[in-house]
Amino acid sequence: MFDLSGKVALVTGGNGGIGLGMAKGLAQAGAQVVVAARNASKSAAAVEALRALGSDSFALEADVTNEAQVERLFAALGERCGRLDILVNNAGTTVRKTVDQLSLAEWNQVMDTNLTSAFLCCKAAFPHMKKSGGGKIINIGSMMSIFGAPYAPAYGASKGGIVQLTRAIATSWAADGIQVNAVLPGWIQTELTDGARAQVAGLNERVIARTAAGRWGQPQDLAGIAVFLASGASDFITGTAIPVDGGYSIAA
Ligand code: NDP
Repeated sequence: MFDLSGKVALVTGGNGGIGLGMAKGLAQAGAQVVVAARNASKSAAAVEALRALGSDSFALEADVTNEAQVERLFAALGERCGRLDILVNNAGTTVRKTVDQLSLAEWNQVMDTNLTSAFLCCKAAFPHMKKSGGGKIINIGSMMSIFGAPYAPAYGASKGGIVQLTRAIATSWAADGIQVNAVLPGWIQTELTDGARAQVAGLNERVIARTAAGRWGQPQDLAGIAVFLASGASDFITGTAIPVDGGYSIAA
């Protein structure tokens, strides 16, 4: 049921953090995993790790905020693999500022990286998935898709948008055999959160206290949901937003 042999997966931002955690799960389930990101040396290390798990993995360099680069990315993937079955829209960033401190350029950078990139990649993936007879799209949201936080105006707006984009596309492409779901991670230890953990007094302890599991998440905690949503086991699930947060979102 969870076998992904013969499937091709593209993971944006798959060269580190949550993206690599998901990529490793997909590789272990048998998928050929293609990593798309900007930093070539980080991508090379990620590909090595995925190859060690038995995946015929490779990397394609792309800034997923740039439409021309996204088009080139999917053309190159089509040429090299001949199909696309799984797309994980994971590339993301944040700017830790309140709305009065945030510039328009910073707002745009966060929206472009977290939301517009997913729109562009879904559009570019559609003809490939149609050709393959269906597909699975996994969009990475956040707890900030549902909660508000003073230091995340653009981040929260982009992640709320991810949930609505997921629902819209799920209704559009269900008839083409494409399921589209969002994953909402809780606090996961990655480069993205390392800065905040170091800078914000008490954050580390607050996260542990509120998370029912009593710990920060690790990138590998997202591997299982990636495999589930990428596999035939989730064929009747579309348009959902699934928290993977150790119970953070159910705390009073
Ligand atoms: P990281 O900073 O560790 O990884 C971000 C990834 O995105 C990197 O691989 C980076 O690669 C890639 N990326 C960023 N901008 C671009 C771009 N323009 N084009 C292509 N790739 C890009 O963050 P996380 O692993 O923590 O985050 C991954 C996703 O999970 C994000 O969407 C984030 O919002 C979300 N998330 C994270 C949480 C957490 O607690 N860590 C909680 C909830 C959601 P490169 O720089 O090489 O391009």
